[in-house]
Amino acid sequence: MTATRDELDVIVIGAGAAGLFFAAEAARRGRRVAALDHAAKLGEKIRISGGGRCNFTNIHAAPEHFLSETPKFCISALRGFTPRDFIARVDAAGIGWHEKKLGQLFCNDSAQAIIDMLVAGCRGAGAALHTHVHVAGVAKDGDAFRVDTDRGAWRGRRLVIATGGKSIPKIGATGFGYRIAEQFGLAVVEPRPALVPLSFEGDVREMARDLAGVSIDASVSAVPAAGAGRRRPRPPVFRDGFLFTHRGLSGPSILQTSSYWREGEPVRIDLSPTDDLFEALKARRAIAGKTAFQTALGETLPRRLAQRLCERRGWRGNLADWSDARLKAAAAALHDWEVAPSGSEGYRTAEVTLGGVSVEALHSRTMEVKSVPGLFFIGEVVDVTGWLGGYNFQWAWASAHAAAQAV
Ligand SMILES: Cc1cc2nc3c(=O)[nH]c(=O)nc-3n(C[C@H](O)[C@H](O)[C@H](O)COP(=O)(O)OP(=O)(O)OC[C@H]3O[C@@H](n4cnc5c(N)ncnc54)[C@H](O)[C@@H]3O)c2cc1C
Repeated sequence: MTATRDELDVIVIGAGAAGLFFAAEAARRGRRVAALDHAAKLGEKIRISGGGRCNFTNIHAAPEHFLSETPKFCISALRGFTPRDFIARVDAAGIGWHEKKLGQLFCNDSAQAIIDMLVAGCRGAGAALHTHVHVAGVAKDGDAFRVDTDRGAWRGRRLVIATGGKSIPKIGATGFGYRIAEQFGLAVVEPRPALVPLSFEGDVREMARDLAGVSIDASVSAVPAAGAGRRRPRPPVFRDGFLFTHRGLSGPSILQTSSYWREGEPVRIDLSPTDDLFEALKARRAIAGKTAFQTALGETLPRRLAQRLCERRGWRGNLADWSDARLKAAAAALHDWEVAPSGSEGYRTAEVTLGGVSVEALHSRTMEVKSVPGLFFIGEVVDVTGWLGGYNFQWAWASAHAAAQAV
């Protein structure tokens, strides 16, 4: 039997990845749960994730793959519910999956299978799911919480905020969770778009437009300004796909770097991370000095890219005309290409939102607000942001699981 609106143990606002998983887990533990979402469909972000196949976890998920002002906060939840634990649920639901690369696990068929598994988990355990519910406000009501909506009021002993970040407003993302945090006096680390393509003006934009669609393997890292805040994490070097687009640069290595990049700072790109270009060009010169420099470069890089780089930098002539010093300088420019993005594509295309409810306000084992017993924040709304590659869903599952054990 479904609980009436006044006798709920837990109300969850937001029925995406974290909210649905939480509702199923808490209901399985015998809690009377209702999840409310303003969207018409549940788990829309799951549906569009991983190119429609949902990269639902990463077998290597570890705290170092997450950004937060307090990097250690995520350790406890991640330990409490690991990728293996989620894989066991996926296997039990009979969903086929495969590892694509770098520990990234995807559904063999459609992401819809993950949504169906989560919804079936909720329904099977008796959690009520309500779509099309517009929340007007939330208030503490004695020992409980009251949620006022366009479909009447709900009252519950616990309130879980799982409304995600601001990325992709077109499918229902809002800053709702941050407003609730502020209402209860909690700090919010400034949200910003992350895992997002970077845009450029001038020369680089023109070059990117000419080369739109060309992709290579490249290493990319953000270059923090001298004296950048001590709380800024040290940017890793990401080696993965790299793509020229009509607006600028994209591909996994750029998306990953965007989470570490700040306005006004450059990013550093190695266009040929496998080959030492100086040695390769020198070796070519030794056996075929009459080869044009551009042709030789086009043996390592895509030909269109080699052509555009040579035009841009005025690199002409045959290899035999090039001294060691000149070859070395050209190779260094390509291994160490620094460009300054003018911005990013913003929340319209960002896969996640960096920042969010300050983890200083939360208990790391339960996600409960220290100063407001009974109030919880889980998933992307919290200041814990994963790398690209299944880490963000793993955080959604792990933080939801932590809270579900505590309600
Ligand atoms: C295009 C794209 C692809 C992605 N691919 C991957 C991937 O393959 N692997 C990976 O790990 N991560 C991926 N991500 C990130 C991942 O989808 C999110 O990190 C994850 O969904 C966060 O879960 P969540 O439950 O916190 O938030 P969400 O899944 O965003 O759920 C939030 C829910 O809250 C609801 N909501 C919002 N505001 C309100 C409100 N005011 N009232 C009521 N309800 C509200 C929304 O409708 C939504 O249903 C991708 C993201 C995008 C945008």
